[in-house]
Amino acid sequence: MYTFDPTNLTDLNVQLGELDGTLQLVAIRNIYVASGIRKTLPSVLDKKRKIMLVMDDTPIYAGKSEIKQEIKTMLNDKNFDVTSLVYHHDNAPDGMVHADWKTVERLQGKLDEKTIVVSIGSGTITDIAKHATYRYAQESNVKIPLIVVQTANTVTAYTSNIAVLLKDGVKRTYPSRYPDYVISDIDIIKQAPFELTQAGFGDLMARYVSYADWYLGYKCKNLSKYTEVPKMLLDDMLEYLVHNASGLKKGNVETYTVLTKALLNAGISMSIVGMSTPISGFEHVMSHTLDMVRAIQHKKPLLHGTQVAIATVFAAYAYEELLSYKEPFLRSSITFPDRKKIEKTMRDDFKQQGFSSNAIKEMLNDYRIKHERWVDAERTIHEFIKLWDVEKKKLQSLVKKGDEIKQALDDIGLDYTIPDDMEFAFTHAHFIRKRFTSADLFFFLNKLNSGLYKRVLERVVGE
Ligand SMILES: [Zn+2]
Repeated sequence: MYTFDPTNLTDLNVQLGELDGTLQLVAIRNIYVASGIRKTLPSVLDKKRKIMLVMDDTPIYAGKSEIKQEIKTMLNDKNFDVTSLVYHHDNAPDGMVHADWKTVERLQGKLDEKTIVVSIGSGTITDIAKHATYRYAQESNVKIPLIVVQTANTVTAYTSNIAVLLKDGVKRTYPSRYPDYVISDIDIIKQAPFELTQAGFGDLMARYVSYADWYLGYKCKNLSKYTEVPKMLLDDMLEYLVHNASGLKKGNVETYTVLTKALLNAGISMSIVGMSTPISGFEHVMSHTLDMVRAIQHKKPLLHGTQVAIATVFAAYAYEELLSYKEPFLRSSITFPDRKKIEKTMRDDFKQQGFSSNAIKEMLNDYRIKHERWVDAERTIHEFIKLWDVEKKKLQSLVKKGDEIKQALDDIGLDYTIPDDMEFAFTHAHFIRKRFTSADLFFFLNKLNSGLYKRVLERVVGE
């Protein structure tokens, strides 16, 4: 039994309310997680409405049954009025369907007030369905019911009220909506390609550095809120997964169920605080930087969770170095440098990587906010450093050792070939977002350089 069960949202919302009255409660009506649970779909639908199935053209199986066809037949047999919108990968310019404004608009244009949307897919399809119905509601004031049928344990999209959309080659997070129901059939999820499961597992590892980043950001006055409730939603399941990762390789139903629930809770953990801070820190900005560099080079993006997992190992080893620093070193090395000088470095370095001047301008705007907060908080930051011996212990309690994370990734056989441009991502990620992470602290300590990267890299690739 775990502390927070996403399949019992009534109790979960009560628990959240008791722990912290400022949290947003979860506005999902129900989440179903079990083998064979897809059969429950008709019971949450309304015969007076038109059902719009939204999916891509990749066949998905549970046992020998192709479930997109199976669901269609099941609803037709029960006399529902069913139409489908299928996104074809071959029709997309780069051979891959993306959640972007075009795909969102295509679905939005087919909706009317009598529609119920049922999405069958993983992150991309879920985000398209969430955002199309969200925008429809914004424009027409009519809320369309949305049922999400999860097909893989890749991402946290199923239960979050944000959507990740591609704009000008860059993925950004936008406020969106919760689904009304989530149906997570372990028979389907277990049969998804294993690299998707590895990616979902890898994305969750981010929590072991991002939480310390959140704490740092809060202490250095970059963020105004910090709470450990989202961490409580994840910790007991993550501990189980880290120690039982090999169960996924063996197709163990129990391990798959815990991974599914952990990813569902991860989506919830961000939504209740309205920020991605619980599972997004330095490792995610590194991953976003890599995505941007790959887009410029016209390379296909790597699976999000796989890339995040690799970046998490880097960030975790970097934390070990950070936590080895002594208070006098911090006191004498901390800087509040001139922004103009930093901006010149940003312009030069990103231009050399092929970033457009517009993209650089956007970064400079975001960075300015972070830099202003840093300079404004000078006194608070000095106070924080004075208490370094105590604060260090606190940070230590929020991170996991690099070796331990690496071991878990080894246990699920995740391929952590170091992506090209990793050093650039490691040393430049902090420039692309306004949120503060450990990378910023390294930077203001004059430590975010090749030397640190090489020391960390040695440990990442070391036996
Ligand atoms: Zn992620």
